[in-house]
Order: sequence, then C-alpha cells, then structure tokens
Amino acid sequence: MNSTDSPLLPEVKKFLSKEVHGGFINGQEIQASNGDTFETRDPGTGERLATVASLQADDVDRAVETAGKAFANADWARLSANERGVHLQRLADAIETRKEIIAQIEALDCGKLLEQARDDVQNFIDTMRYFCVLSQNLSLHIPIPVKEHDASVFRHPWGPCGFIIPWNFPFLLCGWGIAPAMAAGNTCIVKPAEDTPLSTLYVAHLAKEVGIPDGVLNVVPGYGETAGAALSNNPGIRRMSFTGSPEVGRLVAENCGRNLVPVKLELGGKGAAVVFDDVDIPEAAEKLVTAITFHTGQVCCDATRWLIQEPIYDTFVNECVDRLKAVRIGYQMDEETQMGPVVSKTQHQRVLSYLEKGVETGAEIVLEGGVAGTGHGGHYVKPALLAGSLDNVAAREEIFGPVAYLAPFKEESDGLTMANNTPYGLANSVWSQDIERCNRIAAQFDSGNGWINSHNVVVHGVPYGGIKQSGMGGGVGSTETLLDYYRNISVIRPL
Ligand code: NAD
Repeated sequence: MNSTDSPLLPEVKKFLSKEVHGGFINGQEIQASNGDTFETRDPGTGERLATVASLQADDVDRAVETAGKAFANADWARLSANERGVHLQRLADAIETRKEIIAQIEALDCGKLLEQARDDVQNFIDTMRYFCVLSQNLSLHIPIPVKEHDASVFRHPWGPCGFIIPWNFPFLLCGWGIAPAMAAGNTCIVKPAEDTPLSTLYVAHLAKEVGIPDGVLNVVPGYGETAGAALSNNPGIRRMSFTGSPEVGRLVAENCGRNLVPVKLELGGKGAAVVFDDVDIPEAAEKLVTAITFHTGQVCCDATRWLIQEPIYDTFVNECVDRLKAVRIGYQMDEETQMGPVVSKTQHQRVLSYLEKGVETGAEIVLEGGVAGTGHGGHYVKPALLAGSLDNVAAREEIFGPVAYLAPFKEESDGLTMANNTPYGLANSVWSQDIERCNRIAAQFDSGNGWINSHNVVVHGVPYGGIKQSGMGGGVGSTETLLDYYRNISVIRPL
C-alpha cells in the first residue's frame, strides 16, 4: 500500500491472517470434507488475500439438513416477529460497530473503492432494519369475509432458504437475500461467489456472537459447479434465490424446477439511457459517466447503451469523453482513486475481449479503453466508449466493465424502441427536462425498473427486479419481497 492508502485495521489483519477460512454450518466453522481449499485474491494487486475451504456437495447437503433441523426444532420460526427482530437488530448493531472492518474486508476482496464498500455495509444494515420493522407490522392472520364460511389465510415461513450470490456486491446482496428471509422466520444457507466469500463468512461469525441460534445462518463457500450446484439441487431447500448471470440462472432454475422448489432469479442487464436534446448536457454527462465508472462498471443495472438524440449527439459525446479521460484509476484502498480494478483476471480478459470483438465486427472506437497501468499489478482497465450499430456484440451482450455503447436517435418513439430492443429487462433511464415525456417513456420501458434523470437508483421500499433475461420471481427490497418468504395456508370452516 502507498501513503494515501487507508491503513488496515488490526482486526482486518487478524481476520486475513487466518490459515484457512472455513465454511459455517450449525454455528461451527468447518473445513471441506475432502480438505479442498481455494484462494481469494486482492483484485487491486493480484496477491493472495486468504485461503478458504472449498465445500463439497456432501458439506452443502449437511448445511441444508442443519438448516432444516434448525427450522423444525429450534425456536427461530416460532419466535414472534418482535423477538426475532431483537436478534436481527442486534446483528445490525454489531455490523454498525464493525462497519469499517467489514468495509475494508469487502474492498480488498472485491476491489471496490473503500467508500463504496462502506455504503454497501450501511445498505446491509438498513436492509436488516427495514425488514425487521416491516415483519413486525405484518399481519400473519388475514380473515377473509366470505358468505357462510369462516375463512382465513395464515402466513408461515417456508423453512430452509438457499441463496447464491455473485461477486460484485457480495455483502449488500447477502443482506438483500437473508434479511427478509430471516425476518420472516426462515433459516438460510448462503453460497457466496468464489471470488468474494470473506464478508459473508465474517457476518456468519457475527450472527453467532449476537446470539442468533445455531443453524439459522449457514455459509457454504466453494465453486459454483460444486457447492452452488449442490445447493440448487437439494430438495430440502424450500425456496431458492439466485443472483448472477442468466446462463447460470437458467441452470439453477432447472435444478429447482426438477424439485419443484420456487426460485427467484436476479440476473444481468444491458440497460439503456435515452437522452433527449433538451437535457442539461454537462449534468447528464456527469451522471452517466459516474454511473458507468461506479464499481468499474460491474453493476447489473448500469446504463451500458447510451441513446442520444441527434441534435446533441456530438456535444454530449465530447462532454462524456472529456470526463472519462479525467477519471483517476487506481488501487481501491487509495482515497484518491475514482475507479478501481475489475474483480479478477477472468473479468479483465472479458472486458478486453469484448472491446476487441466489438471493433472487429464494426464498432467505432470513440474512446479507446484497454489495460490501465497503475503500478500496483492487479486488473485495471480504462473506461471505453464504442459506437455504431446496436446489432454489434458489444451493444447486445453484457460486458460488465466501464464500457458504454453509443447510438443516435431521431424521434421519441425511436429512442424507446431502441431501448426496449434487447433480451434483457432490468433497468433503463430517460433524460429530459420535460417531465411529462419522462413519465411517458419510463412507463413504457420493457424492464423491471425505469429511472428519470438518474441511473442506478435503488431504495428500500421500492421493488427492484428484472424481467425477460434479467430475472423472474419478484425482485427484492420491498413489502412483496418479505411476502415471498412466507407460504400461505387457507383455512376454511363452513358455518
Ligand atoms: P455467475 O452467474 O457466474 O455466478 C453467480 C453465482 O453463481 C456465484 O456464486 C457462482 O459460484 C455461482 N455458480 C456458478 N456456477 C453455478 C452452477 N452451475 N450452479 C449453481 N451456482 C453456480 O455471475 P457472476 O459473474 O458472479 O456475477 C455477475 C452477474 O451477476 C452479471 O450477469 C450481473 O448482471 C449479475 N447480477 C445481477 C444482479 C441483480 O440484482 N439483477 C445483481 C448483481 C449481479
């Protein structure tokens, strides 16, 4: 680390110095049944951060069995929402107290800026508190007025719920998954991504420390094809939630389908920003540049297709190019850095190869990306802008890096059609000073989320989810999400 880097806290050094980070099942740290491990690396330097147990199918099956027993035998599901809330608020308090520790671990493990990692930790805390309060105010017995019958619906937690999580927002997404599930009284098995398992393992230990009963929160680190597949294949899971790529989402859904286990999928995206000629150009350019460089473009709901109305196309693009050229690329722990590394060598290669493929198949280079040298080792890329036909591979497929694809449009209807012409359906945004037009366009987006004069706006209480290849099963972050973690039973007595 250099002089502007944040010094690592002693607790972080101690956590990282552990020989092998085990999985966490039934309140115990465990190693893989065959002793296998994998290494997690600092994306900013490429150096080893920690060694982690690589759990096998039999370990995962044990975690599901444990979560099943904890649900059936322990008091977790039978506690009132208020009593469970005491535990969960304590967990949120404990995370708050250790916010900087977890933020440092998260920043080192996924290469995200320390400041952004702090926001992610705060988001986990807010998610936990949001679902605690919501569950306390939810009626679990709903009488239904029907003629000549006494009828009600009762809400019960399902049982063990599985969560498979990607590497881009490991801690935040862990919170989005487990908070509603636990608040409703379910038990959880979490499979973090192999690139970024550390913050999830840390929180499992904290859960034990604050008195959450053993078996309620289990973490099974390991490879997707092994630990992830075992989790999604296990018929003991009562509900499954997967966040990641559409390719793997399909595999998980197939497994769950075979067992008839309900599954929620939060998948990738290829969002558009539709920019009209009446925008405040510097302001819109600044916001879109901030969005595409946020977490080095590794954000599912990012605007990666910028559709710009013809009269301002050149001016708008020039504004963006100037801003992107000025972005300070560097080590994620350096407070002056504006854009850190991508998460891994594989992701680095993916971004570079999309730039190559895009140009080979006819895209024009507006701002050349490529490898960024920072003197730290690690996996750095420069922001890039391509332009041309929206049939180009770089305009159609999710790159997951700081790359936007530009195209001009003439009429309002053209902009909307171009935005919707994608198999993805996560998030699009519209930019104009004409709010009526913004509302009209946003309502017609063929996506789960539509934003006006902003991008990447996700707030508790507003459902966030995708349609088409971006997801199915309800989304996250709202009252509906909490309801997903209860099963209903209708009870009827003829009068
Ligand atoms: P990925 O699909 O490769 O992996 C996601 C998780 O699935 C990891 O934990 C991985 O180990 C596991 N996995 C891999 N193979 C598996 C298998 N055969 N069976 C079961 N599990 C398996 O995705 P990624 O590269 O980690 O993350 C990037 C993707 O996630 C992007 O497409 C991004 O858009 C998407 N994403 C979506 C959202 C959302 O809310 N919609 C949020 C974040 C990321």
